[in-house]
Parts: sequence; C-alpha cells; structure tokens
Amino acid sequence: MAEATYTYDVLIIGAGGAGLRAAIEAAYAGVSVGLICKSLLGKAHTVMAEGGMAAAMGHNDDRDNWKVHFADTMRGGQYVNHWRMAEIHAKEAPDRVRELEAWGAVFDRTADGRINQRNFGGHRYPRLAHVGDRTGLELIRTLQDHTIHLGVTVHMEHTVIELLLDEGRAAGALVYDRERGRFHVFAAKAVILATGGVGRAYQVTSNSWEGTGDGHALAYRVGAELIDMEFVQFHPTGMVWPPSVQGILVTEGVRGEGGVLRNSEGRRFMFDDIPDNYKPQTAADPEEGWRYTQGDKSARRPPELLTRDHVARCIMREVKAGRGSPHGGVFLDIAWIKEKLPNAEAHIKRKLPSMYHQFKMLADLDITKEPMEVGPTTHYIMGGVRVDADSQMSTVPGLFAAGECASGINGANRLGGNSLSDLIVFGKRAGEYAAAWARQQRPPRLDEAAVARAERMALEPFDRGEAGENPYTVQHELQQTMQNLVGIVRREAEMRQALEELEEYKGRAARVGVSGRRDYHAGWHTALDLRNLLTVSEAITRSAIERRESRGGHFRDDYPAKLDECATFNIMVKQAGGAMQVSRVPIPPMPDELKQVIEEQKT
Ligand SMILES: Cc1cc2nc3c(=O)[nH]c(=O)nc-3n(C[C@H](O)[C@H](O)[C@H](O)COP(=O)(O)OP(=O)(O)OC[C@H]3O[C@@H](n4cnc5c(N)ncnc54)[C@H](O)[C@@H]3O)c2cc1C
Repeated sequence: MAEATYTYDVLIIGAGGAGLRAAIEAAYAGVSVGLICKSLLGKAHTVMAEGGMAAAMGHNDDRDNWKVHFADTMRGGQYVNHWRMAEIHAKEAPDRVRELEAWGAVFDRTADGRINQRNFGGHRYPRLAHVGDRTGLELIRTLQDHTIHLGVTVHMEHTVIELLLDEGRAAGALVYDRERGRFHVFAAKAVILATGGVGRAYQVTSNSWEGTGDGHALAYRVGAELIDMEFVQFHPTGMVWPPSVQGILVTEGVRGEGGVLRNSEGRRFMFDDIPDNYKPQTAADPEEGWRYTQGDKSARRPPELLTRDHVARCIMREVKAGRGSPHGGVFLDIAWIKEKLPNAEAHIKRKLPSMYHQFKMLADLDITKEPMEVGPTTHYIMGGVRVDADSQMSTVPGLFAAGECASGINGANRLGGNSLSDLIVFGKRAGEYAAAWARQQRPPRLDEAAVARAERMALEPFDRGEAGENPYTVQHELQQTMQNLVGIVRREAEMRQALEELEEYKGRAARVGVSGRRDYHAGWHTALDLRNLLTVSEAITRSAIERRESRGGHFRDDYPAKLDECATFNIMVKQAGGAMQVSRVPIPPMPDELKQVIEEQKT
C-alpha cells in the first residue's frame, strides 16, 4: 500500500470559486479538508470574472424571481440543460449571494442601499450582483478569507496528475509541486474536482494558462462520464488587437451599460437578426434598447444582449461579409452614450473601470472616446463531468465535481453571470455531500503500483531530454487545429480531419522531451498538461461530430437547423477499453410544474 504524504477526509482540487465554496461547506461539516491549486491562492480563473453573478433577488426589478431565472437559463441552454440543476441554481443563488455579503463581500449598491443588479445577455431582468467590473476578485477574496479562517489547509502551486482509486471509489491523488517538482500522494475519502475550464485547447481564448481541462481529463481517465462536450462557448467580445492580447475578454457588462455593436458601415447589425423565440423580449429600436439599459421597466432589451452564441455568429457573419473592423472584428462602442448622459466619461470609468484600464494599457485606446474592436474568443465550456444534480457526485463513487468542470446546468449555452452563481450554489452542495460521503467511508488504501506507474509516466519526458519533441510546438499545433477545425462554425469533414491531427499529436505528445532540473519547469508542466488537452479536444470533437444539428454554442454548417429530436438527449463520452466511446443519453422528462413555468415565461 502506498504511503500518503497528506491525508484528508475531503480533498478539493481547485481553488476557484467552486473549490473554495466547497471547502467552506465541508469544513463547516467538521471533516478535515485539503485544497490543492496549480497557482497561488486567489489567482484562479474566477478572479478574472468581471460582469457579475446572476441571482433573482429582484432588487432592481421586482418582477424577477426564481421562475424567470429558471426559464431564462433553460431557454438560453436551448432545453438540453439538466432541468433539476437549473431549478436548484435559480432557487438557491439569492441565498448564496446574501451569504457572501454576510461574509464581507462589498457589492455595488442601489440608491436605497440594496445589492445592485445589472443587465446581462439572455437575462430578462437586471439580475447580476456585481462589484464594478471586478466581481470575481471580490468573490474570491471573500471566499478565500473565509476558507482560511475555517482552518482549511491549502497546498498552493501543486498540480494533480492522476486520481487514485480504491476498489473503484475515489481515494486520493498523485500531485507534483511546482517549486521542486517533487511528488506527493494525497489520500482522501472523497475528492471534489473544481478545476475550471478548457480554453487553452484553442488558440484564441479568454482563459488563463490554468484552463487546460485537467479535471475533465482526470475524471475521464478513472472512468467518469463527460457530457455536453460539444458545447463550447465562444464569447462574442474578446480583444482582437494588438495580437499579443488577442482573446482577452471584453465584458458583456459593456453592452449591459449601453454599449452597441456596429460594423464598418456604422450599422447596428444586431437588429438585422433576432431569433423568433427572443423577438417578444427584444427592443424594437435603438431608443427602446437604450431605455432598457437605463432601467426603464417598460422597455425591452437591445439585441446586443441576446445570447452569446447568437451574437458571436452575427459578428462572424459581418466579418466574413467584409464589413468588419480593420483587425478582423467589429466595433463595440460605449463612448456614444455621451449623446445621452452629460457625465458619460466619468460614468463609464466608474461602471467599467477594468475595461477602461485594459484598453488604455493594452491597446492605447480610450473607451470613453473611441469604439473598441472586438471579436469572438473561446471562453467557457458547458460540457464537463456528469454529476448527480443534487449531490454533484460523478458516476465514480466518492468523486464529485463542481463549477466549470462539471456539466448539466447550462445545456447548449451558458448565460453570462450564471457561472459565478453556479460556483457558489453547486460548490456548496459538493462540499456538503462530499463531507457526508466521507463520514461513511473507511480510510482509503492506495495502490502502490498505480502510484509508481503514474510517477514513471510523468518523468518520461526527462528520459528523452532534448532529443524529444518540443511540448510547446505540439501544444501550439493542437490549439491551431481546434481553432480552425472545431471552432465556431463546424463541418463533419473538417472535424474528421481534426481527429486525424489529434491522433498524430497523441503520438508526438508521447515523444516530448525536456531537459534540466525539475524545479519550476514550465516545459515539463506543459508536457504533462498536453495529455489533458488532447483528451478534452478529442471529447469536444467526437461529441461535435455526433450532434448532427446546430444548437447553442455548437453550430454545424452542414446541419444548420435545430432539430426537435435532438433536444431529447445529451452526448456522453466515456473511456472503454482504452478508447473514447461516444453515446447519446436521454434527458430525463421534466416535471409538469417546471414545464408550466417555462410556458408561463414564454411571452
Ligand atoms: C475574463 C473572464 C471573465 C468572466 N466573467 C464572468 C462573469 O462576469 N460572470 C460569470 O458568471 N462568469 C464569468 N466568467 C466565467 C467564470 O469566471 C468561470 O467559469 C469560473 O470562474 C470558473 O470557476 P471554477 O471555480 O470552476 O474554476 P477556476 O476559477 O478556473 O479555478 C480552477 C482551479 O483549479 C486549479 N486546477 C486546475 N487544474 C489543476 C490541477 N491539475 N491540479 C491542481 N489544481 C488545478 C486551478 O489552479 C484553480 O485554482 C468569466 C471568465 C473569464 C475568463
């Protein structure tokens, strides 16, 4: 039996919003909790979140409630969401936000002193609790303070390379520390994956270096099921210029505050293409759209605030038609609001301080005076580990998942703001249920041979040294393949070509070499990340081939229609006999009372 370096009741992998919230809940339950993260505490992807967290508190519009939020989430996800997760999320998000406030989060306030809520794409009423455009920072600061106070042990700059099982149940993880490159064995009765997204599988992305799909791939390798992997969200507004900052996010909050999209002819092209199911809720003209952004309850939202998948495709269409901006995007203009507001410049700087700073520093552009150039960027994955809606346990006993690496709540497309609230709602549940599970388990036994095998595999790149393939080259080519062949617009022949290229990269990844010492060895870390990137890329591609229709974030040029018969299943991938198997799993029937909620909200 392998000896553990550290032993916990609950081990949490990932210190973003989901991992931290899970840690708090497990610690409340009185079990021992260990938390591992690749980078420093407070630096997870969550810290980058800008616009806010969605919770139907009804502070800015008292017509809002969980039913509207539920219906918006299902409509946005084009009805392949796990309805139970969408229901739990809509019902519990307000309490989770209030709890953050009680723990010290300082949200922006309404005139009467309540948490202020802003407009965001696909949300019928102003719903996003926010802190300027730095909401993620406040979320993570609050959760991290609370986690530390509860005595959770945090292992920073530690990376999990393999999960360990004991008779088919989660039992711990093999980890290396970045500082020295030493291995550590963590034993645990329950393991929660909270590792975030996969954006680094693409060339243009808003995601940080940490988003290499580790949790997805770790779960897959121990037999867990992944669903909805074809649904990748391309956020419509990333920076396109200068090239060094391409992909960095421009928050939807800009459009929520009145920013408009124009093509090179100056036309607000979003008014040209409004999907039928959104027509009743969309402004008839720019004037009504402006009134909506300023809180006029009688107005409907501007088409710039339609769902992300749709806005991204409209931008692509303008660019392809030759009506794009000089650097291959379109124009996003918030400066125009000076025609409406006397104090526009100060207002923009107050509401969107990070955006002002970002463009000033990175593109030498003053957004209070000039339009920005923006284009789609790989942002989020709706797909992930298949979990039980209530407990967040995966199909591997004792292995839980929460946050972006889990799946179900978003269906084919996530509404902006629904991730931060997902983290706190389902992070809490994962912590609670993992602690309860851990209490019922005996101490795990770790298989020494499995640990030795994983360590050997991890060190192979050093054996090959300089003679091996360069891991960065393989990573770069993989990102190009995914960007060009499995991107916003997909075709079967191109995706089949992508599969062939991925197969070739797998061979090359098995031959990568690195030299030197193991301390802070970024090349070695990239070599290890490659395995995960390859797994998630293959899962995305195979699932995308299998879904022969267009829905949400998944658009097929060869199957452009959305088909009723495809609304009845999710696509699942699973490892079987060493290969990736793809199948369709039926979506469980929705209870009548939830169907009725959706019907009521259709007008
Ligand atoms: C620029 C930007 C703006 C956004 N704005 C919003 C917004 O306004 N509202 C909203 O709802 N959503 C927003 N999102 C999306 C949202 O921020 C993310 O989906 C969410 O933060 C993911 O949180 P998480 O806890 O699941 O994972 P993350 O915050 O990504 O954290 C993952 C953690 O896992 C760790 N980890 C990963 N792999 C390993 C490993 N192998 N071993 C050990 N640790 C590992 C990482 O170090 C990290 O600590 C935004 C995203 C971006 C990129």
